[in-house]
Amino acid sequence: MPNFGEGNLFPPKNHSIFHEKTLLPLLLAALMLAHGTAGAWGFFGHRTITQIAVYELPTSMQAFYYRHMAEIVRLSTSPDERRNTDPTEAPKHFIDIDHYSESDPFGRMPRNYDKAVEKFSADTIKKYGTVPWTVLETQNNLTEAFRMRDTVSIIRYSAELSHYVGDAFVPLHTTVNYDGQLTDQKGLHSLWESQLPERFINGYNLVGEPAKYVKDPLAAIWGVLQESFGFVGETFDRATKIEKTMKPDVRFTFTHRNGKTSRRYSDAFADAYDKSVGGMVNYRLKGAPTMISSLWLTAWQDGGKPNLNELMTPSKISKEEKEKLSNELAAWKNKTLSQNQLLLAQQKPKKVEVVDEIKSAKDMADTPDEAAAPTPVSTPTEPVPAVDKLKVKTKGKDGTEKIKQKGGVPK
Ligand SMILES: [Zn+2]
Repeated sequence: MPNFGEGNLFPPKNHSIFHEKTLLPLLLAALMLAHGTAGAWGFFGHRTITQIAVYELPTSMQAFYYRHMAEIVRLSTSPDERRNTDPTEAPKHFIDIDHYSESDPFGRMPRNYDKAVEKFSADTIKKYGTVPWTVLETQNNLTEAFRMRDTVSIIRYSAELSHYVGDAFVPLHTTVNYDGQLTDQKGLHSLWESQLPERFINGYNLVGEPAKYVKDPLAAIWGVLQESFGFVGETFDRATKIEKTMKPDVRFTFTHRNGKTSRRYSDAFADAYDKSVGGMVNYRLKGAPTMISSLWLTAWQDGGKPNLNELMTPSKISKEEKEKLSNELAAWKNKTLSQNQLLLAQQKPKKVEVVDEIKSAKDMADTPDEAAAPTPVSTPTEPVPAVDKLKVKTKGKDGTEKIKQKGGVPK
C-alpha cells in the first residue's frame, strides 16, 4: 500500500540496516569504500531545490537572488563536480552516523566539531563524514560575504550552502549502508535521489514554507540529519518488500559501456518503489529549500542586512524580470513548474544572460556533462500522499524516543 503519509508505518521503528543478513565481510569492504561514488540528489534534485529556495525568500532578498538564479542553480552542483579532483571534498557531503552507534548515534555524537574530534579523533570524523560542520562553515563564509558585500562570494557560498544542506536531507547520506551495498541493494542511492525525482517530479508538491531566521544553524542542521536518519529503515525495508515480488531480471536494467556492465534499478522497480516511498522523497525535496532559504536569510541578517539592490547593476529589477518571476511564482504555487518546463534543471544548459559583471563566472567550469534533461512520466500514477501527516520519531539524547516532528522543518 502506498500510504506513505498515513503514518501507518511511521514513526520508523528502531531500525537496523543489518537485519536478516550476515554482513561482516561486506561491512569490512564497505568501510574501505565509504561514499566513494555516491553523490546526492543528482544534479536534477540539487538544482531544483536551489531554484525553489529562491522562490521562498522574502522580497527584500528575492530580486538579488532571482537576478543571479541561473548562476546559483548551476553552481549548486559544483561541490559534487570537484569531488574527483579535490581529495578533501568527499567527506563534506555526508555523515555515517550509525557508525558511532546503532541504537543511539545522535546521543553519542557531540554536536560541536571540536568535542566530536576529541571524542572520536579527527581521522574517524573525517572518514565517516562532516556534513553538519561543512554546512556551518559554509554558513559562516556566506555571512562574511554579506558583511563584505562581495557579490561573487555571496553567489558562490549560497550555491554551496544549498548543496550541502540538500545532501543532509537525503536519508542515505546518514548511514554506512549509503548505497544499499551492505544489504544487496546496491544502486538504491541513485534510485532514491535521482531516478525517482527525475521520473516523478510532475506529481511532486514543491511548495514549502517561507524563509525564517534560524537562531542556531548547527542545531538546525543536526535536526535535519536526525530526521533524515529516521527514514533510513523504511528506505531499505520498502525496497526489500518489492524485491520479494519482483524477479531480478525485472528489477534491474543492465547497460554495457566500454566493456563494462553496470546495473541499475529498472523503471518497473522505480514505479513500484515510488508508490511506496514517493511521498518521502517529495517530503525531503520540499523541506530542503525551506531550510536553505532560511539559512540564506540568516546569513544576510547576521551579515548586517546589506541592501542587496545596491549590489545589483542595474540596481532595480526590470519590468521583464518582474513579470518572469511572478509567472514562475504562480506556476510554483499552482504546482505546474515542471509541467511547464520552468525548472532550470529541465532545460538544456544555455549561456546565462549576465547583467551584472561576475568575474568569477567566466572562470567557473562549464556545466558538467550530464544526461539530457530527464523526462518525467506524464502524470503521477496516483496522488502524492499527504506528507504533512507524516510523523517522525527519533532518538533523544538520552536514548529515549522522545523527539517527535510533524511536518515542517526542525528549528
Ligand atoms: Zn553532495
